[in-house]
Amino acid sequence: MADTFLAKGKRKKLVDELRTKGITDEEVLRAINAVPRHEFMDPAFLHHAYTDKAFPISSGQTISQPYTVAVQTSLLNVKKRDKILEIGTGSGYQCAILAEMGAKVYTIERHRELYMIAQRTLSALGYPADFFYGDGYEGKAQYGPFDGIVITAATPEIPEKLKYQLKTGGRMVVPVGNSSSQVMTLVVRTGDIEFDYSTHGTFVFVPMLKGTVNKQM
Ligand code: SAH
Repeated sequence: MADTFLAKGKRKKLVDELRTKGITDEEVLRAINAVPRHEFMDPAFLHHAYTDKAFPISSGQTISQPYTVAVQTSLLNVKKRDKILEIGTGSGYQCAILAEMGAKVYTIERHRELYMIAQRTLSALGYPADFFYGDGYEGKAQYGPFDGIVITAATPEIPEKLKYQLKTGGRMVVPVGNSSSQVMTLVVRTGDIEFDYSTHGTFVFVPMLKGTVNKQM
């Protein structure tokens, strides 16, 4: 679908809405204004592309709510050329926001179908990223250490292995909790085995599950 004046106008309104909800990081707001979220949506929900809500995508998953993407991306404190690992590619929208901000993105998805679709979407839009089909609990140590790790699925505990794939000073943003609600947690690696933790509000994500799913398309 073309990026029409209508879509651009709706995006600008969405950015204004995110400001009123407390998002202040201008680079994050600029990226949300730039990335055509409608390209990441299931056709059934196209008209809601700029509504501040999560929507269903393939494989029973969801595209995150723009506010949630804005909070997670703000907490990551992304700078140009930062190496960022994303767990849970899903639609690829969060990945595109990070690429728009100039990050070098590595993204892992456990559903083969989503892994395939997201690559097509990002390459059609001209956003570079490295895609992996696999279990995000393992991370990608061979490409690390990372300036940032963003987990876009709910986990009952902070994944230990991933903490050690951060650089010293690196930041991991992870929703921690049960299936009905999670606390957005920022983990900052302050030393070899030292980490700082802070919490940033309550959210609801689809669960982070072990293993992979190779469903026929
Ligand atoms: N960042 C996505 C949000 C997708 S929802 C977006 O912007 O659209 C979360 C995604 O995490 C789902 O696609 C789900 O399949 C994936 N996921 C869950 N557990 C995972 C794991 N262990 N490894 C990789 N991906 C996982």
